[in-house]
Amino acid sequence: MENRDLPIRARAEILDVPPYKQGRSVTNGFKLSSNENPFAPLPEVQEAFTAMAPRLGRYGAPPMTELREKIAARFGGSATVDNVYLGAGSVMILVQLLHAVAGPGDNFVYPWPSFEAYPTLGFIQGAEARPVPLREDHTHDADAMLKAIDERTRAVIVCTPNNPTATTLTAADFKRIIEGVPSDVLVILDEAYYEFVQDADAVRGEDVFGKYPNLVVLRTFSKAYGLATLRIGYGIGDPAIWALAGQVAVPLGVSLPAEAAASRVLDEDVRERMEALFAQLNERRERLVAGLQELGIEPAKSEANFIWIPTAPGIEPETVAEAFAERGSSVRPFIGHGTRITVGEEESIDLVVDVFRELLAKAGK
Ligand SMILES: *Cc1c(COP(=O)(O)O)cnc(C)c1O
Repeated sequence: MENRDLPIRARAEILDVPPYKQGRSVTNGFKLSSNENPFAPLPEVQEAFTAMAPRLGRYGAPPMTELREKIAARFGGSATVDNVYLGAGSVMILVQLLHAVAGPGDNFVYPWPSFEAYPTLGFIQGAEARPVPLREDHTHDADAMLKAIDERTRAVIVCTPNNPTATTLTAADFKRIIEGVPSDVLVILDEAYYEFVQDADAVRGEDVFGKYPNLVVLRTFSKAYGLATLRIGYGIGDPAIWALAGQVAVPLGVSLPAEAAASRVLDEDVRERMEALFAQLNERRERLVAGLQELGIEPAKSEANFIWIPTAPGIEPETVAEAFAERGSSVRPFIGHGTRITVGEEESIDLVVDVFRELLAKAGK
């Protein structure tokens, strides 16, 4: 965009920022483009939300101690209530952290492809975004990430399972990264899909938290817990880091219904049913993967509620996205890299396999 098209003056560098594209809404098909949870919240959770209706005229009321205590208890490890920080989605916490640590001339390092919001979140206040290509097997390249760090690096983001490739970061690779980073550089462990992980080799926030004062762990109620629209996520870290994040926070972030619903999904009486839903999505994912493997397609090893199909002749991401759009559905193409597909409604599994079968037939495979 040119400045002259605007009715106001703007920062020149902002005009070049590519906009974050949300998953397209769908017509009569399935929205498999935003890694949302296809299940309706449990009745108890809906009740907790509805109970807040008479108070919609009120702002959320920090410090939300009870919720933060539940989060700390569930997190385990050495976390206490003071280590827990809430935000209107974990993405808001990421913004605050990057704003607090990285300014003009600084840089932040992250894997690529990864969460599409990373580049812009830090770039906006003038820091340089430093994407580091994943390895051939779609996992973080620990050595290359360490090489990308210099004296102006203020944050390193790692994402496990990585959105969009669904692959986990091993505990060993995480250790290499955090122990290779200067000890005063913020390391952000983004575990937005934590609840789906079963791989014993994967790094887990509770195992590493407490060992590294420069580490924060981010998790969310948006994905496995199915509360995306309420915008609530949390971070686990040193209280001094949260004080810093609070300095740059946009006030009045977390709403009362979000607090109430998030608190309810963590109650022990619904734990088994919540975990059964995570397991159901994992099982559904494995059937989807098996269906694609039968066609000769090899998705990356997924530990999340989505799968990654690397680009290949006949199934280039733009071709795949177009084929789903023709069926009234949506997936997320990463041009030149691959396609991310959410594990959605039960009926979507056959549709996904069908679309790929047709694409391969068309390509003469
Ligand atoms: C979805 C997602 C988020 C954002 O979660 P919110 O809590 O809804 O803001 C953060 N990180 C990754 C990797 C994600 O995929």
